[in-house]
Amino acid sequence: MKIQFHNTLAGCIEPFEPIDPPNVYMYNCGPTVYDFAHVGNFRSFMIADVLRRTLELLGFHVHQVMNLTDVGHMTDDQLADGGGEDKMVAAAKRLKQAKKQGVAPVDNPDDPYQVAQYYIDAFIEDARLLGLKVSNEYPQNMPRATQYIDGMQEMIKKLLAAKHAYIASDGAVYYSVESFSQYGQLSGNTIDRLRSGAGGRITDEHQVVKRHPADFLLWKPDATHIMKWDSPWGAGYPNWHLECSVMATTLLGQDVIDIHMGGEDNIFPHHECEIAQTCGATGKELFSRFWIHARHLFINGEKMSKSKGTFYTVRDLAAKGISPVAVRMELVKAPYRMNANLTQQGLVDSARTVQRLRDFSTDLDRRCDGAVASVDLTHPALEAFGSALADDLNIAAAMASLFAWIQQDHSDAAESLAVLRQMDRVLGVLDLGLADNQEAGGDLEIAETCAAIDQARAQKEFEVADNLRQQLVDAGYEVHTSKGGTTARKKLA
Ligand SMILES: [Zn+2]
Repeated sequence: MKIQFHNTLAGCIEPFEPIDPPNVYMYNCGPTVYDFAHVGNFRSFMIADVLRRTLELLGFHVHQVMNLTDVGHMTDDQLADGGGEDKMVAAAKRLKQAKKQGVAPVDNPDDPYQVAQYYIDAFIEDARLLGLKVSNEYPQNMPRATQYIDGMQEMIKKLLAAKHAYIASDGAVYYSVESFSQYGQLSGNTIDRLRSGAGGRITDEHQVVKRHPADFLLWKPDATHIMKWDSPWGAGYPNWHLECSVMATTLLGQDVIDIHMGGEDNIFPHHECEIAQTCGATGKELFSRFWIHARHLFINGEKMSKSKGTFYTVRDLAAKGISPVAVRMELVKAPYRMNANLTQQGLVDSARTVQRLRDFSTDLDRRCDGAVASVDLTHPALEAFGSALADDLNIAAAMASLFAWIQQDHSDAAESLAVLRQMDRVLGVLDLGLADNQEAGGDLEIAETCAAIDQARAQKEFEVADNLRQQLVDAGYEVHTSKGGTTARKKLA
């Protein structure tokens, strides 16, 4: 079977073959744990999950690492100098405000470890609700940056020794982009173009002279920072880019990995800097052979916006009656190299798709009467499904082949069930969230009723809206309508 993916580094689709088959070493940039992750964040994590599961279906043994950033990710993360404030500081400020109003989720918002742990716990919970496989390997394969400070200092020492890094006049350690001729290769930037300003400043407010505007921070001495560690360059903290280079190479145990993934906004500067650091420290020509990037997620055709209340988290959607398995299906089925668009209708359709697959599975299960069959990729239906995914994760073709197959005759129920189960190794929807006996369709009705209430209100049909609301209340739901729309939550007995 031909396996090929789009490689941002090459700018085209390339045949995929791991360095050390059947092993595949893959890293994807994880969340910065200063807030709840929203569905847009989960889009790129979900694509990494689909890629991992696809490779597993194709017979590879995938080693996946996804980090948790709990220090050094600045609010102006496009600036090479690390502009703005640490996102963990921003979280502490926000939670202090919440504490004044009596709603802080942690005892001490000034303790960044407490803040980080709170959002890590929330992230792992959401990731498991969405069926991300790597979240079942937490904490082994989901490292926290603060656990790898020693390794980061070691990498800085190597970069200094190799003249890829230098200490500026205020003691901060910078990477010298001119020392690495491939800098810009991933993003299509050139060092000359970066000189004209996009990458950073030669001189900051302390009149620190960098050698090149795009030279980026590795270590920032700052005795006042919320999290700091002793180092040969003074007490301070590492920059965000450095963390991924160290966690990827340390935990995967490879200087050169097979696949590095992230969202498209990670390409520059984050991934460009990761390549420069890792290659500078290892002396290898490559850090990762494939760079695979997911595009953005829009909500109702627009960028997610805090002010419009469309920064949906998994728990926001659950409160609207949308089950995580519907969110998973919606994220899985969107082609990764196109912007995805999350809509209420799309989620409702996805919940229906899941229900259809579950009904089909239940029917096969009933008919096969305990008989068990095993199938491999030579089975025509599975071959069609697998080869579609092997072709740059063509999920649309894979789903089309799945539904065409469902229409066929299934006289051998045990064999068909085995095929469906193999396909679900990638989709991951048949068993997700069934522990509480909640069918996808049960949630769907509630979501549809909430949507109908909002529609009636928008058309000023308040009597209709009130009747629908009463139906939900009678069914044991608490109904809440706000600017962001109507949500319903099952009342606890
Ligand atoms: Zn990263």
